[in-house]
Amino acid sequence: MKRSYRHWALFLIVVIIVPCQQAVTQGKKPNIVILATGGTIAGAAATGTQSAYTSGAVTIDAMVNAVPGIKDLANIKGEQIANVGSQDMSFDIMLKVAKRINELLPTNDVDGIVITHGTDTMEETAYFLNLVVKSDKPVVLVGSMRPSTAVSADGPLNLYNAVAVAGDPRAKGRGVLVIMNDHIHAAHSLTKTSTTDVQTFLSPLRGLVGVVSYGKSDFYNTPPWKHTTASEFDVAQVTKLPRVDIIFADVDMSPDLIDASAANGAKGIVIAGVGNGNMNKVSVDAAARAVKKGVVVVRSSRVPTGLVGRNVELNDDELGFVASDELNPQKSRILLSLVLLKPRPASEIQQIFTTY
Ligand code: GLU
Repeated sequence: MKRSYRHWALFLIVVIIVPCQQAVTQGKKPNIVILATGGTIAGAAATGTQSAYTSGAVTIDAMVNAVPGIKDLANIKGEQIANVGSQDMSFDIMLKVAKRINELLPTNDVDGIVITHGTDTMEETAYFLNLVVKSDKPVVLVGSMRPSTAVSADGPLNLYNAVAVAGDPRAKGRGVLVIMNDHIHAAHSLTKTSTTDVQTFLSPLRGLVGVVSYGKSDFYNTPPWKHTTASEFDVAQVTKLPRVDIIFADVDMSPDLIDASAANGAKGIVIAGVGNGNMNKVSVDAAARAVKKGVVVVRSSRVPTGLVGRNVELNDDELGFVASDELNPQKSRILLSLVLLKPRPASEIQQIFTTY
C-alpha cells in the first residue's frame, strides 16, 4: 500500500507537475522585439582576423540564430528597421525607431525592446529615445566593436545580455539603457571613448546602472534625469527636426563658422567649447550675434568629463547663452533639436538642460 502511494506520488511529479511547471516557466518568458538598424554587430568581413569590414551586412534573423540559448531567455521577434553603419544614422531613422517603439510597448504582447545599432552614434540614438519613448518598459540598445565574422566577435554575447536585460522587470523605469561588454549604461551618461577597444563605452560622471554577465543582471543605480514617461517631448506628429549645428572650439578659432551656421538656417548652435564651455573672444562675439538673430546657443565642452556651468567664465545671463550642464556636444544637439520644436525662453531651455 505504502509502495503504491509512492508510485502515485512519483507519477504525479514526473508526468503532471514537472511539465506543468515547465509550461508555466515558458509562459512567463518575456516577449521581446528586436529592432535592427545595422552597425558592426551586423557587420561582416572576408576573414576573421582583418580590420576592414562592412557594417550592416547581416540580417536580424541571422544574428539571432547565431546566438545559442537566446530563445530560452525570451520569445523573440525581429524587425529590420534599417541596415546602416551608425555614421549614417539619421533623424529619419531615429524617428522611425521611436514611433515603432511607441506603437509596440503599449500592447500587452511586448515586454521590452532591443535595438541593434552601430556604436559610433549609439549614444545619440539612446539619448533621443530616452527623451521620446512613452513607456517605462525596458528599451535597450546593443552593438559590438567586432564584426560578426571576427575571431572573438563580441556581438553574440552582447545581444544575449541585451535580451536578458530587456526582459527583466528590474530594468523598468530606468530610462533607455545601453548594454556593451557586460556593462549596463544609462542613455544620459554613456559616451564612446575608444575607436577600437571592446571596452569602449564609459559613463564617466555617473557610473554604471548595473552589470550583466551571461544573462544574469545586477542593478545598482537609477538615473536621476527626466526621461520616457516623465519627458515632455513627443515626436508622434514630428517628421523633421530643426537644424542644430555643433562647432568645435580650439586655439585661435575662426568665428566664421558660427556666422555661417546662423546664416545658413541653423536654429541652434552647440559649441564644443574648450574647458568649461569656453571659446575665444571673437567667437563669443559671433555667438552673441547669432543669439540676437534668434539662434539658441548652447555651450558644451570638448572635454570628455565634467560639467559646463552657467556664468562661470562667461556671463550667460548677459550673452543669452545656455550651459549644457552634463551633456556632451552630441547629446546637447539631440536635446536642443527637440527643445526647438516649439519656441521657449532661454531660461526655460536652461532649466531643461539641467533636468533632462
Ligand atoms: N561605424 C560603425 C558603426 O557605427 C562602426 C562602429 C560599430 O558599430 O562598432 O556602425
